[in-house]
Amino acid sequence: MTKIEWCDETINPIVGCTKISEGCQNCYAEKMAWRLKCMGIPKYQDVVDRNGWTGEIGIDFSVFNKLPTRVAKSVFICSMSDLFHENIEDWQIIRVFQAIIDSPAHTFLLLTKRPERMGQWFSEYWNPNKKISTKYRGQVQQLNLRKAECSECSFWFLGCVHGRKEWTNKAVTPNYREVEGGYVCDAFRWNPCSYNHGRAVDQNDGDLSVRADDLYGPFPSPLQNLWLGVTVENRDQYVERWNILSQISAAVKFLSIEPALEWFDIDVWSHPPDWVIWGPETGPGKRPYKDEWALMTYKKCRDHGIPFFDKRKDFLAREFPK
Ligand code: SF4
Repeated sequence: MTKIEWCDETINPIVGCTKISEGCQNCYAEKMAWRLKCMGIPKYQDVVDRNGWTGEIGIDFSVFNKLPTRVAKSVFICSMSDLFHENIEDWQIIRVFQAIIDSPAHTFLLLTKRPERMGQWFSEYWNPNKKISTKYRGQVQQLNLRKAECSECSFWFLGCVHGRKEWTNKAVTPNYREVEGGYVCDAFRWNPCSYNHGRAVDQNDGDLSVRADDLYGPFPSPLQNLWLGVTVENRDQYVERWNILSQISAAVKFLSIEPALEWFDIDVWSHPPDWVIWGPETGPGKRPYKDEWALMTYKKCRDHGIPFFDKRKDFLAREFPK
């Protein structure tokens, strides 16, 4: 359950961030992270201190196990972070996408203020025709571990927390050690299955190797259960972030104008959004807004058939993409 009205659930396999633009000034996630840290929740311990975000990243992939299995949900993923933050490693992003692929019943909504890296990431990892470069070989080898599962709970998991070690196609071992042609990292001592059973069995007869084709082949693009959005607060950020998202392939591309700090016109001709969420700033230190900003945005959306979701209590409309 979540208090966010435009989704059914929030899920946070990765937490932690740093402020990037004006819209971050009164970051709600930062305050919430401090509260959760004080409550003793492990993944929040390093990500925030009295001064705010530290830039450290906390992970807990076991949250995916808590998703309902029988009821389809719309899931806002990484509401306590920005998945394309510079301190989040590629393998961690891959792990998140793997879980999305493995949960086709649910629709995942992903918002970022860092679409540059999102675009870069999709072109590097999500292109079925692209040959994998040696730069990413270590990470590809980690993806092999998708084919390993915990012998205790059968939870599928992905690789090594270190993320940069060179992997070989030798069988997974419980110890980090030198093997022919490279090293095998003790991923499972530090990053076992999400239940911390710490054991893995090889599901592929000892050969965890995979070709780039195998890696990319099963990844449909765009993923039908992944909606991509950018959060913007003013005209400049809208132009910059939306232009980048426009170039990325996605089942649904949406625009979250929150906190709305000024009015700006939305391009409904060359790159119309599939959905617009609009909301003013709330909470302590909130900055002012004008009702007419919401009204003008709503009218523009209505006139062009774009669903509009107003976050205010006295909302103009609360619509969703079909
Ligand atoms: S990008 Fe989002 S989570 Fe990160 S500081 Fe800004 S508002 Fe907070």
